[in-house]
This record gives sequence, structure tokens and C-alpha cells, in this order.
Amino acid sequence: MSKPATIAIDGFAGSGKSTAAARLAEALGYLYFDTGVMYRAVTWAILERGIDPRDEERVSEVAEALIIDVVAEGPDDGRQFTVLADGVDITWAIRESAVEANVSLVSSYPRVRTVLTNQQRRIAAAGPVVMAGRDIGTVVLPQADLKIFLEASAEERARRRCKQLKEQNKPIDYEYILKAIMERDKKDQTNPVSPTIPAEDAVILNTDNLKVDEVLGELQTLVQQVRNGLKIG
Ligand code: C5P
Repeated sequence: MSKPATIAIDGFAGSGKSTAAARLAEALGYLYFDTGVMYRAVTWAILERGIDPRDEERVSEVAEALIIDVVAEGPDDGRQFTVLADGVDITWAIRESAVEANVSLVSSYPRVRTVLTNQQRRIAAAGPVVMAGRDIGTVVLPQADLKIFLEASAEERARRRCKQLKEQNKPIDYEYILKAIMERDKKDQTNPVSPTIPAEDAVILNTDNLKVDEVLGELQTLVQQVRNGLKIG
């Protein structure tokens, strides 16, 4: 398999990692896998069952039993892919604010992380992949051929989120969004099991002043450097 066969793209909410990872995967003909949807799916499932997110035991049991599938097929409603939890289409439900508010807590439980990490490793072992998340370069795929950590200021990420909401004709409250982003960052950064931090050998790319195409260009340059045998990171 030609290198880089495994590309890890990590970063905080709104850093642009999902878009960048999806575009890079498309350009390379690789599978794109967004690991955030798995943590969101578990969070959705426990809320749906009326389980208290603070009940670590029950949340862990749900994570260990839940069957999460991410498939390309689905209705043409602006989705990138379809997320199924035990066969139920939850693609849009996992973006709701109740899920957002609880996903960091759910993600902090070791048993939840273990079961999802194992599933992510199996997906990556099946073929060339661009995997996006928080701990891909540090925990899930520490041997990844290329590791990238995308950064952007909280203010810029809040602006991007407002723009997305505006495009969806949804109400916008910049200050509220900024505060929510900063709170989630803090929880994810201080999560004792897998804090969101760059791997030692990750390339850190700040996207504050970069357009999506420019980020893609930077990533493609890095891929080319790996192909040319350059040591990256
Ligand atoms: O990337 P996204 O915003 O969809 O991730 C949702 C949440 O899932 C993050 O805030 C984080 O708490 C958790 N997550 C994680 N590890 C990953 C991906 C996501 O803990 N690899």
C-alpha cells in the first residue's frame, strides 16, 4: 500500500478538520472517517434511553452494545454520510444541542473510549483512510504515516459556526456559541483519558487565515512530502 496509507487529522471543534479531512480523502480516493460521530452516537443513544450522562456504568454498557454504522448512502439532504445507531438514522439528531452539551462527559469515560478506539482501529486497518478526531495521532493510530493537528482561535471557530447556522437559516448568538466552544475545548483538553493535544510528531497547522482550498493545498503538500520520503513532524 502506498504511503501515507493512514492519515490522522486532529483538532478542536470548528478547527475545520472534518471539511479538510473529507476533502483530502476525496482527492486521494481514501476512506474518510469522522470519529466524532461515534461519541455523538453514544451520547444520543443514552439520552434517547433516558440514561443520566453522569451514570458512567450505564453509559459504558450502552457504548459496548451499540452498533454504529457510517455509510455513504442516504437521502440527498446535505449530509456528508449517514450515521446509524442500531439501524436508526441519527445523522442529524447527533448535531443537536443536547448531544453537544453532553458529548464531552460521555467521551471522558475509559470504557467508552476503549470500545470506540478498537472499532476505529479496525476501520483504519481495512484500507487507506483519513481519520479525523481528537486523539487519532496520539491514541487511536500512533503509527499513522502522517499526523496533522489543525488549530484555529476560538473566535474564528465561533464565527465559522455562526456562518454555518446562517446558511441553515438557524438563529445565531455569537457570544453563546463562543462560550460553548470554549467550554467544550476545556473539557476535551483536560479529559484525563485522552486529552485533545497534538502528537509529538504531528504537523500543527493554524487555519485562522486559510480558506478551505488553502488548507487542502497544505495537506496535499504534506502528503507529497511523505510520498517523497521526507520525514514529517
Ligand atoms: O469532532 P466532533 O465535534 O464531532 O466531536 C464531538 C465530541 O466527541 C468532542 O467534543 C469530543 O468530546 C469527542 N471526541 C473524542 N475523541 C474523538 C472524537 C471526538 O473524545 N476522537
